[in-house]
Amino acid sequence: YRAITESVVYKSHNAFNRKAPLPVGALQSVARLYAEQKDVSSTLNTKRNERSTIGERIRRSKGSEEKQRALEEAKALKTEVGELEAKLEEVEERLLGLALAIPNDTHPASPLGPEEAAVVLSTHGPEPKPADPKRDHVDVGRILGLFDFEAGALVTGSSWYYLLGEAALLEMALTNYAMSIAIKHGFKPTMTPDVVRADIALRCGFQPRDQSADPPVSQMYHISQHLPSESSHNHPELVLTGTAEIPLGGLFANQIVPASALPLKVVGLGRSFRAEAGARGADTRGLYRVHQFSKLELFVVCTEEASEAAMEEMRCVQEEIFSGLGFPFRVLDMPTEELGASAFRKYDMEAWMPGRGSWGEISSTSNCTDYQARRLHIRYRRHTSPSPNPTPADSPTPTSHSSLPFAHTLNGTAAAIPRLIVALVENGARFDGEGKVVGLELPVALKPFWIGADKVIQW
Ligand code: AMP
Repeated sequence: YRAITESVVYKSHNAFNRKAPLPVGALQSVARLYAEQKDVSSTLNTKRNERSTIGERIRRSKGSEEKQRALEEAKALKTEVGELEAKLEEVEERLLGLALAIPNDTHPASPLGPEEAAVVLSTHGPEPKPADPKRDHVDVGRILGLFDFEAGALVTGSSWYYLLGEAALLEMALTNYAMSIAIKHGFKPTMTPDVVRADIALRCGFQPRDQSADPPVSQMYHISQHLPSESSHNHPELVLTGTAEIPLGGLFANQIVPASALPLKVVGLGRSFRAEAGARGADTRGLYRVHQFSKLELFVVCTEEASEAAMEEMRCVQEEIFSGLGFPFRVLDMPTEELGASAFRKYDMEAWMPGRGSWGEISSTSNCTDYQARRLHIRYRRHTSPSPNPTPADSPTPTSHSSLPFAHTLNGTAAAIPRLIVALVENGARFDGEGKVVGLELPVALKPFWIGADKVIQW
């Protein structure tokens, strides 16, 4: 009881510090429902055992009176078991609903508070250019013919866009450049599905429908229409991925991996789809906050002892990628209110964008510890097993000291293409003596990955 109380106190403080959308009294209810679930489940087991023996008693009963009594008892037991099963289902559903809203624990070094409390860990690259509206990527892009937002709005809606000419080539070059660095550091290249089951998104810590908002909003695009051949009755709810982190986490779901095979490191290329409900103002101008973008994502599955070092390793990979792109950027240790549901610790990276006159987020890295692995059932075997390959999960849920502990998972952006294009265009725009845009200077690191025309590009 003391352990539960202490845990409730810790988790309450933690949820408060993270401004997690937890219903009032949720944690106390979780503790109470957990006790109730254990209670109902143990009574149910007893009653089921009694039921399994009563058949034998009916068969063996001598007189008709004894038989009648046993039959009545069997009937009463059947009703009781039915009621207990219904009760258990109801308690478990309530327990799960509340438990899903509890955020991950927090790293003791994470700063406390809102976005402004972020701590700058390091700054890289050249001296930031002065803020200059002439460098705005939308205006530069219009002059150089790089984007078409009007056609995007006509064909789909606002905040949808076309990348044209050199901008389209830039997406391909950036993808292959960042992919090559990730591969060099041992990440396995992966192409991910862009449509996922809503429950896989939920298990990764993304609420497909945010009921806590008023009115409830969805940051995901839901696929409501199934193919005529599929019955909606037994078909799962599908959403467009908000990030490749979701299919990459799902890649390891229900697996037990030998510890000797860890860490598993993958780099996935996917399209991210974001409803961006509630986004307004300068952020929605141009490419900065759009509804669809290509993103290269790093994902690691490792032991609990290795996850802090894995986060530092991911940070080094990202620093190498962004250093090669030649713009100023900085690394931030994100504060408690910015951690979302799944992150134990989060590092964001921001590039200097002189046309916007501000630092803009280009990447985000989270150590999710065992938060996602618990929900996705990703475990590892502490002692090496004979099979070097991951095997499907077949064992019961582990205890905290199990030889089959939950793994730790981490995810981080290797390249979020539109934001990198904003940073490259705003830092690399070239002007003539009269201040007119004449071209774009790009980092030589991208040259080996460039295909096709480059009439406005200077290396
Ligand atoms: P997140 O998964 O929200 O941490 O986003 C990962 C990265 O994707 C961010 O660091 C941004 O660089 C980029 N990003 C997020 N949302 C958008 C958006 N709506 N449009 C363009 N880029 C985005």
